[in-house]
Amino acid sequence: MAFESLTNRLQNVFGKLRGKGKLSEDDVNEAMREVRLALLEADVNFKVVKDFVAKVKEQAVGVEVQKSFTPGMVVVDIVHKELIELMGGSATKIAKASKPPTVILMAGLQGAGKTTTTAKLAMMLMKGNHKPLLIAGDIYRPAAIKQLQVLGEQIKAPVFTLGNDVSPVEIARQGLQFAKANSHDYVIVDTAGRLQIDEALMEELKQIHEVVQPDEVLLVVDAMTGQEAVNVAKSFHEQLELTGVVLTKMDGDTRGGAALSVKAVTGCPIKFVSMGEKIEPLESFHPERMASRILGMGDMLSLIEKAQSSIDADKAAEMERKMRNAEFTFEDFLEQMEQVRKLGPLDQLLDMLPGMNKVKGMKDMKVDDKQINRVEAIVRSMTTDEKRNPDLLNYSRRRRIAAGSGTNIAEVNRLIKQFEEMRKMMKQFSGMMGKGGKGMKGL
Ligand code: GDP
Repeated sequence: MAFESLTNRLQNVFGKLRGKGKLSEDDVNEAMREVRLALLEADVNFKVVKDFVAKVKEQAVGVEVQKSFTPGMVVVDIVHKELIELMGGSATKIAKASKPPTVILMAGLQGAGKTTTTAKLAMMLMKGNHKPLLIAGDIYRPAAIKQLQVLGEQIKAPVFTLGNDVSPVEIARQGLQFAKANSHDYVIVDTAGRLQIDEALMEELKQIHEVVQPDEVLLVVDAMTGQEAVNVAKSFHEQLELTGVVLTKMDGDTRGGAALSVKAVTGCPIKFVSMGEKIEPLESFHPERMASRILGMGDMLSLIEKAQSSIDADKAAEMERKMRNAEFTFEDFLEQMEQVRKLGPLDQLLDMLPGMNKVKGMKDMKVDDKQINRVEAIVRSMTTDEKRNPDLLNYSRRRRIAAGSGTNIAEVNRLIKQFEEMRKMMKQFSGMMGKGGKGMKGL
């Protein structure tokens, strides 16, 4: 899980402060010493850490604590705000040329995820009803053009190529003409990467830059490489004037160093983050959400946004009503599983919930899609009556269901038991929530 160790360490620091009624200078110093170590361990640039800690300290010492807050909460709040600031403040949008097409030049080292990100970016644009053209400018890596073509086909975005024998500069020039002639409003130029930054690579990029005059120059860097990603960004920015950075592989267990250092070191904001090898629309980078996530406050905003775009509100309300009245059946269970699935891989969802990393056993939990398929198969093998009235499920029916779903009786028994426990819990919850559901505080 990304940032896991940093989050745990920071939560420990703040946990100690939370209990205090008053913060002495010593308390703040001690906490900041630990914050400093936590950030350094997360591979954040040392100068960035130094400035960060100094800023927080300055605000935390002698702070006027309002009645409703404890001093610990005030420090968490300061750290939260400073983290947001560190990552660039507010989210930035992709450029839009006054006269289309808007040209986006993609740069990055080999393996950073440039081609994958190009496709994800195109998908994001298409979701916003744009008509992007992808230009295959990497003529050196074997199969790079093919890779882009395959991805283009997959997402139904056209790919412009002139093969391997024409120079990338010429490909970019002709590609741009093609885009204009075919009313594409966005052009994304995929370029060659190298294993390391070298002069020939920079020279070529500069020439392409000259020819296409991009509105946006995005550098794709691998978050898993930590400080190295920041160094790469710095060198590229010095030569190419980047407009933004895309951090890829944020689904991995990156310690956080790159996300927290890039903006401060290079002055260039992170505009997007990529999570996963599967081609899905690229996600905007929201410093505020990332800061909350790092502090273990979860990423509720992203989760809510995801849920809003993929969950049917009427259905969700109906489901909630049923849960409250303990009318929840296996039919509802199945439907709910389908809704949740639409949100994406479950372990990524768990990551977004506040405090999830604190729940015992949760952090190592791998949500197994195969297991979910089996559960689904069991429920689908039930008759409508059985789904609506699980009390009907006697031994012979369970045996039939096991055979029908290609599972075994133990699995069927386990699922029914879990389901019954869930129903019991819902009943208890609905009792706690009272009639209007307003009795529960917090989450
Ligand atoms: P390029 O050489 O920069 O064009 O890199 P590719 O787009 O070919 O990606 C290199 C490898 O990283 C491929 O195996 C991708 O599937 C993988 N990859 C790209 N982006 C991500 C990401 O966000 N998460 C993960 N886990 N893998 C990624």
